[in-house]
Amino acid sequence: MNNVITPDTDLDLYVVAQQQFERALSWIDDLKAGLVEYLITPKRTVHVRFSVIMDDDSVRTFHGFRVLHNRSRGPGKGGIRYHPDVTEHEVAALAALMTWKTAIVDVPFGGAKGGVVCNPKELSRAELRRITRRFVIELGDAIGPHTDIPAPDVYTDQQTMAWIYDTFDVFHPGQNNRAVVTGKPLELGGSLGREAATGRGCLDATRRLLGHSIVKDLRAIDGARVAIQGLGNVGATAMRLFHEAGARIVCVSDSKGGVADDAGLQPQQVMAHKAENGSVVGLPETVTITNEDLLAYDCDILIPAALESQIRADNAADVRARLVVEGANGPITPAADAILQDRGITVLPDIVANGGGVVVSYFEWVQNLENQQWQLDKVEERLKFRMNAAVDATVTQQKLIRQKIQRDDGAEPTLRDAALVVAIRRLSDVILQRDIWM
Ligand code: NAD
Repeated sequence: MNNVITPDTDLDLYVVAQQQFERALSWIDDLKAGLVEYLITPKRTVHVRFSVIMDDDSVRTFHGFRVLHNRSRGPGKGGIRYHPDVTEHEVAALAALMTWKTAIVDVPFGGAKGGVVCNPKELSRAELRRITRRFVIELGDAIGPHTDIPAPDVYTDQQTMAWIYDTFDVFHPGQNNRAVVTGKPLELGGSLGREAATGRGCLDATRRLLGHSIVKDLRAIDGARVAIQGLGNVGATAMRLFHEAGARIVCVSDSKGGVADDAGLQPQQVMAHKAENGSVVGLPETVTITNEDLLAYDCDILIPAALESQIRADNAADVRARLVVEGANGPITPAADAILQDRGITVLPDIVANGGGVVVSYFEWVQNLENQQWQLDKVEERLKFRMNAAVDATVTQQKLIRQKIQRDDGAEPTLRDAALVVAIRRLSDVILQRDIWM
């Protein structure tokens, strides 16, 4: 294991995940000997190759995989992504992230992730349907309502989840199979509130964190200036909800660039312009900015909600926010994390900040097992409860570590360290209680 953080290595998600894990371990002095290797290594990786008839009647062979990182706290949980560059390496890192995320938001799941190497932009709907069905058939009982439960991820959506459910159901007749996958259409057992869950969870978690009065010179969302990178599911929902909570959205961006208005953008106008023009760029009475400008914009709260490795060693010194809320997975590299910490900028880490999605996925699973559909206010209230609990556990753990451990090098635990310590402890406690290797 390599504990050295360098700008060259810290862009690889797998290395990032390992470095974050090792940093967190450095704050735990009583972990059972030998447990570390078990905690970090994926439990199982399934590789499948399958052939599909394409629309032009040719045959193409695809490679797919599913990594189950850990299921000691419950069945594996995590998305399936369709992307030409998806690798086992990347998926393994994301599966581990899911293990820590499900533990810190305290839902009874483990971590998993899957992928199929393909380019959905070049595939027809019928080809995607055949790929999905063959993939699910090849996975067989590697997925299931009580073993490993997929969800949408990059370039997979509600329709993909409906195909997964339908295929699994055909091969497992006579039982309720709805809980085999989450993120389904409402009519097939999807949960009210799932679409907005991650953005809403970001808002709940941010509000709770500010209530702890640990962010320098920032106590409330009301009146805060907010910058958001990415206007997909997470970013667009966060924009709407932070605006409704009284924040001033000073700049936003998508893959084509960004716009800024210090007086505050109106979410409805932003989304209408984006729907009409394919981008926010060109929204009347705004200043056009680049994504780099957005990250360095003068604001109170910065929400990177697009891609990984956006705040790095080379631009972390430019960040002017007081608080960075990681809407995306892995938007801050470890080297950048250290720079932000030195500069007194608080980071609400991804496993807490964007954990709302998996919380409502858990609610969907529960509703499916019970053949129920909860009202939206019940979903939102229960989401808030879990987000608050995750933030409280993280802040409390940070204080505990500070009281207990004074390091010679003067290092202080970040909220990311604290959240991971809580997650690692929750998982290791369960493993020890289960005595699973004896
Ligand atoms: P999405 O595909 O709906 O949206 C992504 C957005 O990012 C799009 O608006 C796109 O234009 C923008 N984007 C792409 N490249 C960009 C760039 N270079 N600069 C600025 N913007 C860029 O994705 P999403 O579901 O909103 O997910 C965003 C992030 O949040 C991902 O890291 C994802 O893993 C994470 N996440 C999502 C969920 C969820 O429930 N959707 C849950 C947890 C974590």
